[in-house]
Amino acid sequence: MTKNTTTQLIQEVVDYLIETDTNELSTWGENRTEWLKQGGEQLKGIDKVIAGDLRIKKDDGSIGTYQAFRVQHNNACGYYKGGIRFSTGVNQDEVQTLAMLMTLKNSLHDLPYGGGKGGVHIDVRKHSKRELKEVSQAFVKMVQNDIGPYRDIPAPDVGSGPELMDWMTQAYKDLHPNEPFINTFTGKSIKNGGTKGRGESTGIGTFLSYYYLVDAVLNDSLEVNDKHSDKRDMIKAIGEKENVKVAVQGFGNLSRAAAISAQNAERKHTVIAVSDSRSTVYNENGVDAEKLAPFKEENDRLPNADELKEMGLEGDVLDPMDILTLDCDVLILGAIEDQVTEANQADIKADILVEGANGPVTSEADQYLTEQGKVIIPDILANAGGVTVSYLEWIQGFTNDVKEKEDILEDMSQRMKKVSERVYGSYFSSEHDESLRFLCFKLAVVRVIDLMKRSGKII
Ligand code: GLU
Repeated sequence: MTKNTTTQLIQEVVDYLIETDTNELSTWGENRTEWLKQGGEQLKGIDKVIAGDLRIKKDDGSIGTYQAFRVQHNNACGYYKGGIRFSTGVNQDEVQTLAMLMTLKNSLHDLPYGGGKGGVHIDVRKHSKRELKEVSQAFVKMVQNDIGPYRDIPAPDVGSGPELMDWMTQAYKDLHPNEPFINTFTGKSIKNGGTKGRGESTGIGTFLSYYYLVDAVLNDSLEVNDKHSDKRDMIKAIGEKENVKVAVQGFGNLSRAAAISAQNAERKHTVIAVSDSRSTVYNENGVDAEKLAPFKEENDRLPNADELKEMGLEGDVLDPMDILTLDCDVLILGAIEDQVTEANQADIKADILVEGANGPVTSEADQYLTEQGKVIIPDILANAGGVTVSYLEWIQGFTNDVKEKEDILEDMSQRMKKVSERVYGSYFSSEHDESLRFLCFKLAVVRVIDLMKRSGKII
């Protein structure tokens, strides 16, 4: 999704809310249209952008320069919150889009946060640890007066992780010795105030967002409008299969945890393929994600055909993009944005697509696949496990009550379940034929605008 398609969808949702009598807005009275218009305009804008070039001395003595951004989109629902991505895809438009999606994600999931996002244009693979540490410190220097536990709380994203968060926390501590620092970042290492389970949380949550969809349909009490009966039947058929075939794009942190969750789920699932930027490993009888994970972690790539054999695993090594068009029931998109596009949409065989990454399905492909009767679980619903556990880490930072991993993941799962049940209940009972993405945007926009009106941000 680009900034244009995101703002366009926000506008469509606002127009729809203005034109349609919805239960959610029954108490808003005669000011409703005005509030929606003003709120929509604010949501399409940005509160603040901090941008600059980060400069460091590289190991070879030369100077490295990296474009960096922190975008604070909206804080009607609480402190700005969202990750910092280190990637060559970073530009201001992308970071603004991702910040908007954070506002909507946090709103949809009832978290006490607004939306923010950061980004550094850098190829992490081409830099030493020392260089990355310096870039992290330079980033904190740039944003130091705009972040803090009660202002804007960054976290990891693509290309960053606990190590970077630890460096950044230290940099903040050095720059602001008298201020609270422990909750300025979440996603820190466990020994440094992080939360057990944060690493796996986004991937587990992504799988659960799909699992709860099937649960909702298998539950006899689900109210289904005729408009949605075909989709209900399709999902029910998947839920009743003896073995559900899942393909998982990506094999980073998120996708590994999603694949392992699928393998260990109560209803039987077989992960038929996983992929990374170099290859797809495929076996229609199942690839063992638990066995592949340590190899990937050690070598930063998936094994080739010979290495697979040496590991005692059977499978074919295919091109990385082949993962998308394999014959499967569920496709988990856990890599990066813009993967399912007009170029490959007609070849997608999965009936359910789950957006673990942000924006992996373009808006054109989204429309096409939805028309084909497929169900796409949108990023702002599916990948909130990470920020939910960030929230638990933030609470832990205040209380010092350190919870066990099972308790953290159980808490996150229950929160994901509650939100999923609300979304899916509303989806199937709706007399409007709206996509899940539209519905999630709608629920998120209503909460943000409601809080704007309560706090007098709109009048
Ligand atoms: N970067 C993650 C996301 O996009 C996590 C954000 C957070 O924990 O604040 O949801």
